[in-house]
Amino acid sequence: NLAVSEADILGYLYSKGVKPDTVHTLDKDMVKMICKEYDVEVIEIDPVRVEEMAKKKEMLDEEDLDMLENRPPVITIMGHVDHGKTTLLDYIRKSKVVASEAGGITQGIGAYKVLVPVDGKPQPCVFLDTPGHEAFGAMRARGARVTDITIIVVAVDDGVRPQTNEAIAHAKAAGVPIIIAINKIDKDGTNPERVMQELSSIGLMPEVWGGDIPMVQISALKGVNIDELLETVMLVAELQELKANPHRNAKGTVLEAGLDKTKGSTATLIVQNGTLKKGDVVVCGEAFGKVRAMFDDRGGRVDQAGPSIAVQVIGLSSVPIAGDEFEVLDSLDIARERANACAESLRVARISAKAGEGKVTLSSIASAVSAGKQSGLDMHQLNIILKVDVQGSIEAIRHALQVLPQDNVALKFLLQAPGDVTTSDVDLAVATEAIIFGFNVKAPGSVKSYAEKKHVEIRLYRVIYDFIGDMRNAMEGLLEPVE
Ligand code: GDP
Repeated sequence: NLAVSEADILGYLYSKGVKPDTVHTLDKDMVKMICKEYDVEVIEIDPVRVEEMAKKKEMLDEEDLDMLENRPPVITIMGHVDHGKTTLLDYIRKSKVVASEAGGITQGIGAYKVLVPVDGKPQPCVFLDTPGHEAFGAMRARGARVTDITIIVVAVDDGVRPQTNEAIAHAKAAGVPIIIAINKIDKDGTNPERVMQELSSIGLMPEVWGGDIPMVQISALKGVNIDELLETVMLVAELQELKANPHRNAKGTVLEAGLDKTKGSTATLIVQNGTLKKGDVVVCGEAFGKVRAMFDDRGGRVDQAGPSIAVQVIGLSSVPIAGDEFEVLDSLDIARERANACAESLRVARISAKAGEGKVTLSSIASAVSAGKQSGLDMHQLNIILKVDVQGSIEAIRHALQVLPQDNVALKFLLQAPGDVTTSDVDLAVATEAIIFGFNVKAPGSVKSYAEKKHVEIRLYRVIYDFIGDMRNAMEGLLEPVE
């Protein structure tokens, strides 16, 4: 982090006669020049190393790196309510799943595989069937990253709405590439360009206008351009070079879990590395057991599942939690031990959560700042989710905040949108350790209690002056040691 403001750097660049094309992108030479001016050491990051690190995030270990094979992309569909998510999922499922393999009834296991022809050859990809943002948010809140690509559906006749913004914020926070599906183009008198304009004004520049966000105009209802959308998915997937090592014990994430009258405890597991086999011993959180049977998305029994594939398994001791990681271990004893250890650490976590430790609040930031000041320590970052009454308030608030001295606390806006506080905001706050600020908006009782459960602070304001005052106090370490 440079302790120099953006304005200073821009000023410096202009004084050297350099005009950066946008405020946000500086090329390598510019960065070097700036660092020299401010006497900061430049460390160039080795791209290969970065790629390796990125792979590790996808549950790969060092020893996998020599045995990597391509794996199918895992895709989620998000967007505002009624913009057509379900219709799109249904269309893809009906047109692709049944046509590609002798289909039975699709079982709701939370994910299904479809085949998309790429250069004439059918290539698999996996759609997560988690309706809405809840599952995505909750999963992210637990630190799981299962999705490779997000399709955000925007209805052409309704444009960008609150949940569109949320979806974008979630995808960005998780670093997941976005594809926009502009839906309902079959409707009369619609104007896709207007939606593209709207999206570019919030930082998503369409590829066709020189940006990096693919946007496909579709009708989920009539099935128009769905092939084009899927091809775009595969193109984006190809660029990501998604790989895993199928020749090892499986690990991955729990997508869904529940109790079934006949099957007992069931869990849909998505394999993210390795291959899961019938008879394997798995542990996920506090649950463990031998996989007695596995079912695919068509309800058929399968004996194994490779990377990116989701299967419903039975045989676990209890019902795991969606978002838990699972892992195959060598014996039931080891698995039992691990599950017990997990249960114990969860118990400890619950207790300390009760005691309110670990919660990010404005006053915890303030005391961190004042502690930091005493020890001459570091910068803090305050992640902010800002919900306001009208769009215009956002600029006003950001402006007022920007003039506050940011030498102790850097403000990072993760989401700023009009509308009341929602559970999805809370999930985002959990995932990013953010505080939610509301200006002239409400937080419904159910959202408040959810936030309490998740240890997320929601601060609501009516007067901008109060809001800025609190922020200033916190950022200056309000709780200065009392003499
Ligand atoms: P979701 O809430 O995002 O899952 O939205 P749905 O898939 O339930 O769709 C909401 C409504 O929009 C339904 O009445 C759909 O029939 C309609 N709809 C979805 N896609 C299209 C489309 O491409 N064209 C038109 N005209 N209507 C659509």
